[in-house]
Amino acid sequence: MSSREIHVIVVGGSWAGITAVHELIDLSHVTYPRLHITLVEQRTHYFHKTGAIRGLVDQKYADKMFLSYQNLFLDGSGVTNPFHRFVCAKLAHVFEHFIELEGGTRMFYDYLIIATGSTYTSLPVTQSADEIDCRARYHRMRNAIDAARSILFVGGGAVGVGISCEIAELHPKKCVMLAHARDRLFNEDLSDSFASNTESLMRKMGVELILGETVVSTTATEDDDDDFSTLAHEEWTVKPQTVVTKSGRRITCDLVIWTTGSRPNTEFMQSLSATSDKDSLLVDGDSGHINVLSTLQLRDVRCANIFAVGDVNSLSYSEKYATNAMLQAKHAVANIRLLMDECYDYRMKMSPGLAAETALRAQLVPYTCTRNKQVVVALGKNKEISNTVMAKLNSWARGAKRGRRYMLDKAEKLLNC
Ligand SMILES: Cc1cc2nc3c(=O)[nH]c(=O)nc-3n(C[C@H](O)[C@H](O)[C@H](O)COP(=O)(O)OP(=O)(O)OC[C@H]3O[C@@H](n4cnc5c(N)ncnc54)[C@H](O)[C@@H]3O)c2cc1C
Repeated sequence: MSSREIHVIVVGGSWAGITAVHELIDLSHVTYPRLHITLVEQRTHYFHKTGAIRGLVDQKYADKMFLSYQNLFLDGSGVTNPFHRFVCAKLAHVFEHFIELEGGTRMFYDYLIIATGSTYTSLPVTQSADEIDCRARYHRMRNAIDAARSILFVGGGAVGVGISCEIAELHPKKCVMLAHARDRLFNEDLSDSFASNTESLMRKMGVELILGETVVSTTATEDDDDDFSTLAHEEWTVKPQTVVTKSGRRITCDLVIWTTGSRPNTEFMQSLSATSDKDSLLVDGDSGHINVLSTLQLRDVRCANIFAVGDVNSLSYSEKYATNAMLQAKHAVANIRLLMDECYDYRMKMSPGLAAETALRAQLVPYTCTRNKQVVVALGKNKEISNTVMAKLNSWARGAKRGRRYMLDKAEKLLNC
């Protein structure tokens, strides 16, 4: 046991962040009882983004998607450790030894874990930090789906496929269309046969697939031109509209839902990038992800004590799953422990050379990215498609047969709800 006071800040209270907090709590029980753990999260509540698809068509499920953080730090006897705390605030800037929150509050750290994930601009509900507003936005999204007679989804990745199938299943009389730029569904990282099997199942469910068509503009009505660049960020609006594709095809519908990609939340990295080494590119210029080493540390020798985990980091797209975010968080905390064991938190009292040597001595372990990725995509409430037999078996073992819960039970458990 060490009696050192060590401050660890975790930013982002979702899969990666909450898992990191749990691992740190375990570490405080075993070896570092004076570990101060702070979770900084911009939302007042946990929002179960992973279940956003199901909540849109299932009110009971939707009601359970907003969870409180208040029990996160409760120990077995129902007491909150005074060394740990939840801070509801938005991270504005990261510096080498402290972070600055919106409003100017500074918090110093020995180790920092950035787990700020990504924003799905196409899901307006994910852009809200306040629970009441978040619920209201979600309600408006559900109302829009109810009101629309014909819905066009733009983007045939897992999210577009998932939502369109849920809606086609629940509302068989609605016209449900899905446009995708590639000739096959999904991205290149999934096989053609998986895509074509998904396509035939979707067609059977009544989803009209418009493949090989890139949507380039939308007009709300004949006399009302929308600013195309802002459409993907808008609230979902039901009105007659015509969508035009690159090839000139016109598609009419009364609700367009963009299910195209996501953007990592990394604006706060500018402060660190500005003072960083010339050769260290902390944030990828194209994708916006935080560049990490295989140890999940930032790519700058001065930032050996800063880790980025989950959707926010530069690991491959096949890592952008809740399950992987949790694995990475566990790995990062294990590596932080190695640094702690070498007393790297004393680095401010060391010369830069000694600090670098200490970081090396810790012999951090590289994270192994998922190989032979198992993919399961739900097509409606009780149907799903898997890319391998193992994926199918695992999904079944996790309860797919009872109707997919999109890991809501797991989130409840992590938050002690
Ligand atoms: C519709 C949908 C369905 C999905 N289905 C599945 C599935 O079935 N299985 C699966 O494994 N994965 C699924 N995923 C992917 C999964 O949800 C993500 O991979 C996972 O949420 C990533 O977790 P994370 O902790 O890295 O980031 P996020 O979940 O994005 O969380 C980031 C957190 O950081 C907070 N934050 C952001 N910026 C700041 C800031 N500046 N200051 C403070 N806090 C901040 C956010 O509020 C948020 O709470 C799905 C995703 C979507 C959108």
